[in-house]
Formats: sequence, C-alpha cells, structure tokens
Amino acid sequence: MRTIYDLTYEGMEKYLLEHEQKKYRAKQLYTWIYRKRVETFEEMTDLPATFIAQLKEDFSFQALRCIEKQVAKDKTTKYLFELSDGATIETVLMHFNFGKSVCVTSQVGCNMGCTFCASGLLKKQRNLTAGEMVAQIMAVQKELDLEGARVDNVVVMGTGEPFDNYEEVMNFCHVINSDHGLAIGARHITISTCGIVPKIYEFAKEHVQYNLAISLHAPNDELRKKLMPIDEAYPLEELIEALRAYSKENNRKITFEYILLKDVNDTDACAKELAELVRGMNAYVNLIPYNEVSENGYHSSDEKKALHFYDVLMKHGVKATLRSKHGEDIDAACGQLRARHERVNV
Ligand code: SAH
Repeated sequence: MRTIYDLTYEGMEKYLLEHEQKKYRAKQLYTWIYRKRVETFEEMTDLPATFIAQLKEDFSFQALRCIEKQVAKDKTTKYLFELSDGATIETVLMHFNFGKSVCVTSQVGCNMGCTFCASGLLKKQRNLTAGEMVAQIMAVQKELDLEGARVDNVVVMGTGEPFDNYEEVMNFCHVINSDHGLAIGARHITISTCGIVPKIYEFAKEHVQYNLAISLHAPNDELRKKLMPIDEAYPLEELIEALRAYSKENNRKITFEYILLKDVNDTDACAKELAELVRGMNAYVNLIPYNEVSENGYHSSDEKKALHFYDVLMKHGVKATLRSKHGEDIDAACGQLRARHERVNV
C-alpha cells in the first residue's frame, strides 16, 4: 500500500480529481499532514466521512517506525527505522550553527561499492519510495516539534545513490519543498551523487533549485577508481563535462565532497591536482573528516594535514570548507548503525 506521503501536491490534486473531489482539498490535506502533522485520517475534520474512508482504503499513514535511537554528546542523533516490509534504514539529525540538518536514506543498501563506505557492506535490496523518504523527515520533525524547532536543511546523503532512484528522490524533494506543506526551501535541499553522469544531464534540464553535491574524493582517475567503482563507468573527464553542462543550464554552485583519508588522498600533490581540476568552476570543495569504519584500512587524516590541504586549495583560488566531526561517539558513519543491526561487522 502506498503511503499518503508519496503524493506530491500535484499528485494529490490528480488523485482528488480521479475521486470526484474538489482540487482545493489538496491544500486541506497538505495542511493536515504537513502543518498540523496529524497521524490519522480521522483527525481531518473538514473532510467528508466517505472520502476519509476512501483515503484509508488507498493509503497508509505509517511508513516507518523507530526501532533504535542513538544520541551523541554533540546531540547528533541517529535513528534506525523499520519500513513496512521489515527493511531497516538510517536517518541522521545534525545540529549545525546554520540550522538543523537531516540526512536522508534513499535506498535500502547500496550497490555503488565505494571502498571506504559502510553502506555498501549491505547490497541494495530496493529503492525507497518518495513517501518513505518524506516519512524520515516527518519523524524527525515531530521530535523537533517538542522543542519548537524545525528541520532547516535536508541532505540526501544517507545510504543509497539518489540518482539510482531518480524519480522517487525528485518527488521526495517536491513534497518537502511544497509551499503548502513543510516548505523547506529548495536551496536548503541537497542531493549528493557519486557521479552517475546521464542523470546529471537529466537533473540539469529540470531547472530546479535543489543543490547538487558530487562525491569526488580523488583528483585523478587512477586513485578514484580505487575508491569508487563508479569511476570505471564514468571517469572524471565525463563527470566534469556533465557538471559544466549543468552549470551552463543552472546558475547554481556545485559542491564537491572530498573525504580526507590519511595517506590516501590527503597529500600535497593531491591538493594541487584537485585545485587544478576544479579551478574556474562555479563550485566549492567541502573537506569532510572520515568517520572510521573498522577493518577497511582507511583512517581519518590528522588535523595538520587537513588544514594544509585546505590552505593549498585556498592559495590556488579554490573555495573550500573544512568540516568538523559530528557524532563521533555513536555509529555515525554512513550505514554503520544499520550494518551493526544487521550483524555485519563494522
Ligand atoms: N551515494 C551518494 C550519497 C550517499 S553517500 C554519494 O555518493 O554522494 C554521502 C556522502 O558520505 C558521500 O560523499 C560519501 O562519500 C560520504 N561517506 C561515506 N562513508 C563515509 C564515512 N565513513 N565517513 C565520512 N563520509 C562518508
């Protein structure tokens, strides 16, 4: 059964017309679901009883339930949710000085096989529906309601490759962006991809304001292939060309994510090569400390190295940010909590 969170505003209008209801009821429904945040159809007191019965027949309200929650000292919170088919996924809430960010999972497991990432320890079982992604936001928002706070930013950076689940991810963004609902600004929503080139072209043509982030992690193909198998299919030259096409179509800054891995991609030479690669693009580099996943052999760069890397980029005219660690004392690495739950050794 679909969940009510699967419906975009336009999808809701279409459903209403198909069921001989007035289009304006979409606004009523969105208000109940996303503004008043009710959890049953019965609470929607301005809808006819017969129509409520119809809704109950067609949609569920419950897309997931929380089965574990970890809170770090810095308040980073990791939720383990169980979906209706029993699959488990992770969602993370982070408290930044620029607001509260939620990191959303887009697939059950992941097939991209990045060697440093815990998510890929469990292969993709299926895509999430838009509604299952919306439900992650709603669950966190309902907790934040207790302290009068709201979800400010959303990043599709949890387990999964969003561009391998393109349509559902786009619908998810449209639902949470809708002015009638949560109204999370498009510029506060970021989709992160490992670099599925054809989908970057498709995304470019949508002319939406959602941010695009690219997991780069290496400045040349030789190294990138070792870290990210996707580089075999779409090498850097093709990736950069697609991003140039995106920039031509959209006046939006691209974010390059670059995890700093000790003695792997954090050398002075790598920094210079990276600067060469991205200089002149409308982009900036987000240097991310690595959350260690035991036994895969990768370690986080030390602070001195990280600072030097940052300096080299800046000196070469590349804008960069150096992130601090979040949630170090919990299973914060992508896929770590879920992997542990599914009894994979991480
Ligand atoms: N598949 C998408 C989105 C999910 S991964 C992508 O590749 O962008 C989100 C980000 O987290 C990526 O940049 C990924 O490389 C990074 N990541 C994965 N494992 C990590 C870890 N252990 N520590 C820090 N970042 C990690």
